[in-house]
Amino acid sequence: MGDVGGEECGVVGITSPDAARKAFVGLRVLQHRGQESAGIAVFDGENTNQFKDMGLVSVVFTPQRLAELKGDVAIGHVRYSTTGSSVLDNAQPVIVDTAVGKMALAHNGDIANASALRAERQEKFGWAFFTSSDSEIIVRLIADEFSRGRDVVGAIRAAMKILVGAYALVIMVNETVYAVRDPLAVRPLCYGRIKGGYAVASESVVLDFLEGGVFERDLRAGEILEIKGDQVTSHPGPSERHTGHCMFEWVYFSRPDSVVDGQYVASVRHRIGRILAREHPVSADIVIPVPDSGRTQAVGFADECGIRLGEGLMKNRFVERTFIMPDQKDRTESVALKLNPIPPVVEGKRVVLVDDSIVRGNTMRKLVETLRSAGATEVHVRVGCPKIIAPCPLGIDMKTRDQFIAVKGVRQEKTDAEIARELGADSVGYISIHGLVEALRRGHKDLCLGCLTGVYPVKIEGERHRAQESLDKFFQVEPILGDEVEPSVPRQKLYQKAADGGSPPDADAGR
Ligand code: 5GP
Ligand code: MG
Repeated sequence: MGDVGGEECGVVGITSPDAARKAFVGLRVLQHRGQESAGIAVFDGENTNQFKDMGLVSVVFTPQRLAELKGDVAIGHVRYSTTGSSVLDNAQPVIVDTAVGKMALAHNGDIANASALRAERQEKFGWAFFTSSDSEIIVRLIADEFSRGRDVVGAIRAAMKILVGAYALVIMVNETVYAVRDPLAVRPLCYGRIKGGYAVASESVVLDFLEGGVFERDLRAGEILEIKGDQVTSHPGPSERHTGHCMFEWVYFSRPDSVVDGQYVASVRHRIGRILAREHPVSADIVIPVPDSGRTQAVGFADECGIRLGEGLMKNRFVERTFIMPDQKDRTESVALKLNPIPPVVEGKRVVLVDDSIVRGNTMRKLVETLRSAGATEVHVRVGCPKIIAPCPLGIDMKTRDQFIAVKGVRQEKTDAEIARELGADSVGYISIHGLVEALRRGHKDLCLGCLTGVYPVKIEGERHRAQESLDKFFQVEPILGDEVEPSVPRQKLYQKAADGGSPPDADAGR
């Protein structure tokens, strides 16, 4: 993969008076989607101004800074840092000067062919790049299309034809906000009415916090929404037959009080817990959630099997996030600092410990040990996400196979018993892929399950691919470089490079 810069983030767009203040509220609501940096760009009727910095939204945007960002149109971004990459250069929005004015862009997701596109532009056209972020290639591609006389929607669509991957974009060109969802709708993006205009956001919960907020709908796959004042125009995508929504948005990433693509995240997690209890029943005295992300699943588990739920772990909310620490020793130590058992709850009990997911196993290994030392007689681990066995090139911070506890050898999956032994647990049970799909209430072909199956809805170099006929067509219709210019390296080539890996056209495991 090798691409840096693209990852899980949160985005907002506002067309309403005092826009920066509203973007600020939206970003605070989306803080869970990224804590590394925050930024807001605003159009004041003449100029586009912005402020961005490292840190939490409430720290970056002092009242004074916010007051300086005047205007009725704004976009905002929170960035999730991934292991080892954490620089202000990659903070967003990104602003560029274009033939049609200043363009600001905020991006959530990952462009799988960003490196190939950058290399190609560098070699063939001598483009220079200023950051390692894949957001830069997006703005540059769009801006380049303006110079060929395309309008904004035409330019965005042209760029969409060569960008392979997951992206939810909010773009501001002068007073207009464009919201864009990739052709498989991998990352979430929705919009709604607010007092005085509209809001676009990664998650619906943002609308709960803005005055007059009413959820309208999720953006459709490949759709471009053009919002100017209180005028909304939809430019439909390539009528994709199947979507590729990331299952991890419901499993872990999104807030439980958000509705993502028609499903309340909390409801999905509760169903996950119920199904998990049916698939992996166990005799025990108490069900304990791993706070916070395992809570709703644990409630579902307890509701289904009738074992009482108890809060047996205290979480220190102020300890930095362990998941992204570059060093394994730091990670393990910080898990210990972050979660502490409550002995009277667990002493002498057979415990079922429920978490949303296991990635490397650091959290679980530590927790099993800690619960035993607090007096638990048995610890049974139950997990609301099937075994993660393959990397995510589409925006989640899981990039290499060797880090996953569920993988052994080159590409083999460990058994539950093997994993239980490594965690020091009495037993381990993961929800099945079938069970997860049932909890999500949509067909497996409408989901990206790449990290669970190793089969992706877009072509990724060296990985298996599930055919998306209409998407393949979308990528092949028009020349992206404009009619007057002969494309020197056709986009089909870049796009198809990954396909030469030789996977069967419909390699979907069909599980
Ligand atoms: P592990 O400790 O196994 O590497 O990671 C699993 C734990 O990290 C779980 O408690 C899960 O809630 C959390 N987790 C899973 N995926 C992510 C992620 O992408 N980012 C962060 N910060 N935490 C995650
Ligand atoms: Mg967790």
